[in-house]
Amino acid sequence: MKEIKKVLIANRGEIALRILRCCRELGIKTVAVYSTADREQKHVALADEAVCIGPPQATHSYLNMAAIISAAEVTQADAIHPGYGFMSENADFAESVEKSGFIFIGPKPETIRLMGSKTNAKAAMIEAGVPCVPGSDGVLPDDDDECITIASQVGYPVLIKAASGGGGRGMHVVRAEDELVQKVHLARSEALAAFKDGSVFMEKYLETPRHIEFQVLSDGQGNAIHLGERDCSMQRRNQKVVEESPAPGITEEQRNEIGSLCVEACIRIGYRGAGTFEFLYEDGKFYFIEMNTRIQVEHPVTEMVTGTDLIKEMIRIADGKPLKKKQSNIRMRGHAVECRINAEHARTFIPSPGEITKYHTPGGPGVRLDSHCYRGYHVPPHYDSMIGKLITWGSDRKSAIARMRQALAEMVIEGINCNIPLQRRIMSDAVFKEGTHHIHYLEKMLAQWANEE
Ligand code: ADP
Repeated sequence: MKEIKKVLIANRGEIALRILRCCRELGIKTVAVYSTADREQKHVALADEAVCIGPPQATHSYLNMAAIISAAEVTQADAIHPGYGFMSENADFAESVEKSGFIFIGPKPETIRLMGSKTNAKAAMIEAGVPCVPGSDGVLPDDDDECITIASQVGYPVLIKAASGGGGRGMHVVRAEDELVQKVHLARSEALAAFKDGSVFMEKYLETPRHIEFQVLSDGQGNAIHLGERDCSMQRRNQKVVEESPAPGITEEQRNEIGSLCVEACIRIGYRGAGTFEFLYEDGKFYFIEMNTRIQVEHPVTEMVTGTDLIKEMIRIADGKPLKKKQSNIRMRGHAVECRINAEHARTFIPSPGEITKYHTPGGPGVRLDSHCYRGYHVPPHYDSMIGKLITWGSDRKSAIARMRQALAEMVIEGINCNIPLQRRIMSDAVFKEGTHHIHYLEKMLAQWANEE
């Protein structure tokens, strides 16, 4: 196997910069690929080489397999890092990358394919002894009456989800039998339009769960470890807004129990790379919902408490090196919190592209800012609204939150709207500070905020 000396970064924004920085530290050359809307991206300026791969629309640039692979050919890159989103969980892309003679920094294509189907992933996890949310046995049948029977067995309320879904889209809660058939049909047509796969499945709808996920690293050579958990319960429309590690109130015993199950599952499926097992947690029990076969947006909180550079580990694994760290080397130290910084109005959530006219960043001990922004940068309207992540570390949860409040107070972004006022509010919220919030709490908090006006 060839050694990785040059990496093509098939992404944009903060994650492209994060990967570039890591490659620099490792002495690896970098190739940036960018759309015409992203010429002024920081990582494009910093990369050893940069190739324009198309117009602003992602389908013609960051999702254009042929353009990305030919950029790798032209620049003679050894490997491709997909980041998150875009091509990161596209098994066909991973396959084309490998067939074209490049290393894909991620799992094997067949693993991505297996986990890309939530129903197959659940079946694999049930086999590996990982507890799952009760629900339909695989995808729902076409027959409406059979769906009604399944729902009555699962028990209302139920949730209809797309088997190939992602990004929190296309989910429907059904509270009573008379709305079931219509919601199943709606979910099917939405899933077909969004994911080119109309198959849907059913899960028991948990009313007030927390979202807790486990980070794993597995070298595909029989060695795997977990790096503890993250709590991502602060969500709006099933999208994470704040993440932290460790999860408040989770005991060492629970961590070891679920973490070990994830590790066993990795070894069983021959997992290679960094991955995340997502669970819902309610009444002291964990229920697996899906596995993400890529680096996650919220990976820094795990890095801060475990002292592990996850991107570096991904590259080492892709380079064929066995994991150096053993489970006994992983200690969780202190507490880390991450606030996603989005270019959107803090109350209406309307995206706010445009020029950043003023930009002041926070600093000090335990403060980390992962962002590609700078004064004069134009946030393009074509992509996700996330423009950065602010992460703070403290010796315990309380001090990590206190640091985050201070960091948010110092941070200035002008020219566009951003959600810093919302994050300030969350960091001062009594329920958040107690650590007792669940996945629907933020929506309630927002309703209350609106009422105060
Ligand atoms: P996606 O891949 O679209 O992000 P997930 O399966 O990861 O979908 O679910 C996203 C979010 O939806 C979860 O974090 C949780 O907030 C909510 N959710 C998913 N399954 C359930 C369920 N069975 N009951 C209640 N909420 C759920």
